[in-house]
Amino acid sequence: MTSSSNWTIEDAERIYGVSRWGGGYFSVGDNGNLQITPNPDSPDVRIDFKAVLSEIQQKDVQFPVVVRFHDILRSQVARLNTAFADAIEDAGYQGRYSGVYPIKVNQMREVVEEIVYAGKPFQYGLEAGSKAELLAALAMNTNEGSLTVLNGYKDEEFMRLALMGRKLGNRMVVVVEKYSELLLLVRIAKELGIDPIIGVRAKITAKGRGKWESSGGDKAKFGLTIAEIINAARYLKSEGLDHCLKLLHFHIGSQLTDIRSVREAIAEGGRIYAELHKMDFPLQYVDVGGGLGIDYDGTASTNDSSRNYSIQEYVSGIVNGMKEVCELEDVPHPDLVSESGRAITAHHSCVVTQVVGEIRSNSSGVETSAADDEHIIVSNMRDIAENPLLNGDDRRAMQQAFNDASHYKEQALDAFKLRVLSLEELAKTETLYWQIMQRLHTYYADEDFIPDELQEMAHSLSSQYLCNFSVFQSAADTWAIDQLLPVAPLTRMNEKPNVSCSLVDITCDSDGKIDQFAVGREITQVLPLHELKAGEPYFVGLFLTGAYQDVMGDMHNLFGRLNEVHIFSYDDDPEDFYVEEVVHGSSVKDVLTIMQYNPQAMASDVKRMIDRQVAEGNIKPREGVQWTDFYEACINGYTYLKPQKP
Ligand SMILES: *Cc1c(COP(=O)(O)O)cnc(C)c1O
Repeated sequence: MTSSSNWTIEDAERIYGVSRWGGGYFSVGDNGNLQITPNPDSPDVRIDFKAVLSEIQQKDVQFPVVVRFHDILRSQVARLNTAFADAIEDAGYQGRYSGVYPIKVNQMREVVEEIVYAGKPFQYGLEAGSKAELLAALAMNTNEGSLTVLNGYKDEEFMRLALMGRKLGNRMVVVVEKYSELLLLVRIAKELGIDPIIGVRAKITAKGRGKWESSGGDKAKFGLTIAEIINAARYLKSEGLDHCLKLLHFHIGSQLTDIRSVREAIAEGGRIYAELHKMDFPLQYVDVGGGLGIDYDGTASTNDSSRNYSIQEYVSGIVNGMKEVCELEDVPHPDLVSESGRAITAHHSCVVTQVVGEIRSNSSGVETSAADDEHIIVSNMRDIAENPLLNGDDRRAMQQAFNDASHYKEQALDAFKLRVLSLEELAKTETLYWQIMQRLHTYYADEDFIPDELQEMAHSLSSQYLCNFSVFQSAADTWAIDQLLPVAPLTRMNEKPNVSCSLVDITCDSDGKIDQFAVGREITQVLPLHELKAGEPYFVGLFLTGAYQDVMGDMHNLFGRLNEVHIFSYDDDPEDFYVEEVVHGSSVKDVLTIMQYNPQAMASDVKRMIDRQVAEGNIKPREGVQWTDFYEACINGYTYLKPQKP
């Protein structure tokens, strides 16, 4: 490891891996601040995160804050569509790409609006998986020539809405997830006299690897078996609607970690398409679903939180795979649809939280000087602590100190239980023990190899940084499915970080923590961060939260939605950006109302209690008014901590 004097931003880059997970959008600046290049095609437009923080503070927006970079959304839409256009051209592929954005990944209106806007030149559409999403997609998808793909389980109203979309000139594709939906759709289409565009979702045996493996395979929740697909096609023919069968759909899971599963799915799905074609059902589209992964941990591997391929590889795997099948089978190349959500939205938003305190285990001890008649266990522990070898760099002496100290610590506890050691002596022994561990910790921090038993000790010595946010609201997947999200300080990356810590949130739940980090190329339980300085707020960013995390949070402990700041890049601005919009998060009043409270009634109840105390002379009238106002101000305020002004 590097000593603090020759610490460089390259070291910071190595530890935090910013450019490995940053997708070309994030980097460490020479000044040690995190930088954003929202459009990698215009590398001169660079936003310094510190300038964003200052603007947030100037506007009096309280932390924690979600920061959205709208340009990143646009860049990702262009990136995916351009990758398909390029691969199609390179391969001489005959079909076109007609992608859709699945709005369940981030349904925020501003996000969907931006994606539709950015997708206009590409005829990029939307995907909806529920009635509410369909209602949104119907109103939001204004891109001419684009598709609106409708997945998920459907009822009669759903079918009517889809057919209404047809009537309005939209290319709404109803994807049949189970056989009975087809009968329902045909009945309503005939009743209304509107031709639907019908897709069928195939259960295919190719499985994604990773956390979403069960989305594919025989036991998948959605989709028709091969036999059902054939029956569906024949049924449509018998109803005179076979010309409406236009799309074959499959989706083998989200965050596909291994490119091989994509290839397998294309090979299998392509064969089904080709066979249907030969059976005289010439489908126009093959929809390969979602699954394009994000490299959250920066390892470019088949780790659950990574993927072993690039966007270009993914896209060319689809285009070339489909071309190969079609040429072997001598059928036309279908138009290609994909439903990438995670890849479009993950990078564009992050959560900024302030570290509001440090929780240190074993930081305080008792006075440890020798007493006249102290027990030998205490003296033995002191001998280790005072051994000059402990300040040297003899590896074997360190290991021995660890072994001996651990032994005496256990003995001390036994002796205490047997009433041989007093409470005070136990406290002395433990204090000395932690002093030894602290010293060992410092020694091993500069070593490449740390034995297992000592690694555990390092973890128990590490600090916890208390961060003003809720894991359940802002990073639900880190709790629910152990998703790793990149974490990095926003400033001071030109200083050596010398506190190893995990992050804990402000909920009263011991699960409210983040203790999985990508450090270098390892997954560790602690992250090196900087020492807190009095009077200088320290901010940490939780990145790649734009997919799922933004919208899946819950109100555990009544912590509500976050304040949001929407950033647009702007070359003519001295800081290269402006805040286009501040969206205020939930107030206490908002979250209480959702839980069926009546905040107004609560305020008058509390006022009545105060008035009674005033009447009884326990509170002065002026003070009573102040308490009443204070209660009301808090009810109208933000649900998170209000850190003290320095
Ligand atoms: C969730 C989902 C998607 C989005 O998947 P990503 O991995 O986020 O791209 C696409 N299609 C269907 C059917 C889905 O259920």
